[in-house]
Order: sequence, then C-alpha cells, then structure tokens
Amino acid sequence: MTTVERPVGGRLVDQFEYGLDAPICLTWELTYACNLACVHCLSSSGRRDPRELSTAEAERVIDELQRMQVFYVNVGGGEPTVRPDFWHLLDYAIGHDVGVKFSTNGIKLDRARAQQLARTDYVDVQISLDGATAEVNDAVRGTGSFATATRALENLAEAGMKDVKVSVVVTRENAGQLDEFKALTDRYGAQLRITRFRPSGRGADVWDRLHPTQQQQRELYAWLLANGDQVLTGDSFFHLSALGEALPGLNLCGAGRVVCLIDPVGDVYACPFAIHENFLAGNVRDEGGFQRVWQQSELFADLRNPQTGGACTKCAHFDACRGGCMAAKFFTGLPLDGPDPECVQGYGETALAARDRELVPPRSHIDHSHTGPVRGQPTLLGIPSIPVKICDESPLAGLDPRWRPPSEG
Ligand code: SF4
Ligand code: SF4
Repeated sequence: MTTVERPVGGRLVDQFEYGLDAPICLTWELTYACNLACVHCLSSSGRRDPRELSTAEAERVIDELQRMQVFYVNVGGGEPTVRPDFWHLLDYAIGHDVGVKFSTNGIKLDRARAQQLARTDYVDVQISLDGATAEVNDAVRGTGSFATATRALENLAEAGMKDVKVSVVVTRENAGQLDEFKALTDRYGAQLRITRFRPSGRGADVWDRLHPTQQQQRELYAWLLANGDQVLTGDSFFHLSALGEALPGLNLCGAGRVVCLIDPVGDVYACPFAIHENFLAGNVRDEGGFQRVWQQSELFADLRNPQTGGACTKCAHFDACRGGCMAAKFFTGLPLDGPDPECVQGYGETALAARDRELVPPRSHIDHSHTGPVRGQPTLLGIPSIPVKICDESPLAGLDPRWRPPSEG
C-alpha cells in the first residue's frame, strides 16, 4: 500500500485525514480487570489478562510517548485504578511530561486519593455515569454504581479538584436525562462529557435495545446546538451534523489517523471502539515499539489514504457526516464505505434491513467478561435473558390440539 503524502498547510481537518506523526487522541487501557460488569462495556472487560504489560513495560511505553511528544493519554480499562501500580504509573507519566486523563467508576476515589489528585498537575479525572438517577444508571452499570460514582464526585469536589468530568454514554434509557445530567454535573462543579454508544464489545449484545431512536437523535442534536458550548463530545456525534448546522469538533473518523488504542496486553488498535483483528496494527512489545506501529504499520498507512465514501458520496450531507463511524458500521455488519447504522437521513436503517439474513456481524476476538457472578451485576433492563419457553406458560403447550384425555376419547 503506497502512502499518500500529507498536504502542507491548509485546513486542519485535511491534515488530520493524512495522519500525524503522533496521535492526538491516544487511549491506553491499562487493564481488563474491573469491579463492575456494565452491559455495554466497549472492551468486554471484567477479568485481568495474565499477559498484561508489567510496570517496567508500561514505563517504557511512557518513555516512548515522551520522546514522541504525546502530550497526554486517555487512560481507561477495565477499571484502571484496580491495577496496584496505577498511582505509580500516573506519577511516572506526569514526571515524564505525559499528562493523564483517566476514566474511572470511582471505586478507589476516597477522600485521601481525591486530595492527592487535587494536588497533582496535569491530571484529569473522568467519572463514568450512565444515568442521572440510580435507577437508570444501575440498570446498565450495576447496583450501587451510582452511589460509588457520586461519592467519588463528592470527594473530588470537597478536595477542590478542578476540571472533573462526568462521562455519559448516551443510550435510549438516558437520552431524556440530558438536562438532569447537566444539573448533576453543575452540582459538583464538574463538566459534562457525552459520548456516542457504539456496538463494540458487550455493547454489541445490547445495541438493538439501547441505541437511541431516530427521534432521540434529533432531540440530542437540538440539545447539543443549544448547550454544545458547555459539554464535551469529542468526535462522538458528527453523524448528527447531517441534520443541518454542523456541530463543533472533528467531523472525521480519526481511527489510525489521530486516534488509536493501546490495550492492556500492548496490542495497538486503530480506535478504542474497534478491538478486532481487522483493526490490529501491531504490539508495543514488537521491535520498534509503539512509535513504529504508529508511524509504519500497513493498516494505519491504509487508513490514512483518502477513503472512498461509497454510497454516501452521493448524499448531500457527506461533507458534514462523512458516512459516520467506522466501528459502528463494522460491528453491525455494514460495509465501511456505506452509511452509518444510525444515519439520521434513514439510510442506515435501510442498509440494516437489507443485510443478508444469514449474516453474523463480526465480533471482537477479545472477551474478558466475568464468568462468575459479580456483586451488584446489572439486571438487563427488565428484559428476560432466558427466552420464556412455551411450556412455562401452558401445561398443554406442545401437545397436539386434537389430543384428548382417554376418558373423553
Ligand atoms: S471508528 Fe468511530 S469512534 Fe473510532 S475514531 Fe472512527 S468515528 Fe471515532
Ligand atoms: S447517507 Fe451517509 S453521508 Fe449521508 S447522512 Fe447518512 S451516513 Fe451521513
């Protein structure tokens, strides 16, 4: 695959399309271990992988990021704070000019840790919540998880921690709570960050039930137009720009161009939502480390070449939406050069309906989900996980309707 040279000068978005020498949005999942079992976990986390990078290996990755002038990493998991060396690695990164934004469910953020964080520069904390009320949140993240997250927010506010974020994945269940989320975040002096729900990891299992409806997407778009300057969204919702006025932010799939993921065992993927062999570019343990993967892998070179928009190029909104999210298309079994499954012009629904009936959408090869019971495990939104069998409803189910007891015969 020949690489097309990045143009010199011009719009930033055009520069991004051809990739940069270092990622500007690098996510590093430190562990697959997690105390929770959220139904929509994008990395199917739960159990620690025994091949996880050691402390020394993680330090070497940080040294590399410093050399590459990666100014900050988004650290996640799993639950990163359950790694015993998490606090050491945090200090190590900051000491090596790599700022850290980490996402947590709040489990380890007691008062002492909150005070420690408040004293540390170049660290950002992001608390995950998927409901503005315990009822909505805990149905997805597990019993008690709302209380844990809000306690952590309280501790951080009390300690005077600045720039705390509350991170929400917008689902069908919480899309009507955006104002409540805003009020909750304001109460703790924090900032709201909302992201799109993608069918990645365990999210694929609940995507049909949980992804926002077309009506909710239109309401979300209107809400973002009115409140967008007060919330963070990253590249989450650029597909909504096809509804009219463009939303601020990167309107381009940044996978492998400006975005990538290092997973707990050092594998490098094009995007945190694309944990699949097709998007695996290499491993930080390979010769040349992360830098070589980022700058020389064939997959990333390929992604940095101008992509064809396929059917979407005929769409009047292509410039704003660019066909949407690669991961959302891939994990719903749609072609990568066609419309997004949540295309706001309705073409995604048509494409989903036209899929081959026999098609099994691709699944990630990675699954660290808990295999045993987890304390407070979410109840799957009141929908029975085991199909109700006919024989559970009627004692005569399954019998030939012409059959009569012998006395009636
Ligand atoms: S695959 Fe989707 S989530 Fe990942 S960078 Fe592209 S648009 Fe963003
Ligand atoms: S058809 Fe493609 S470019 Fe047009 S709005 Fe839908 S996903 Fe976006």
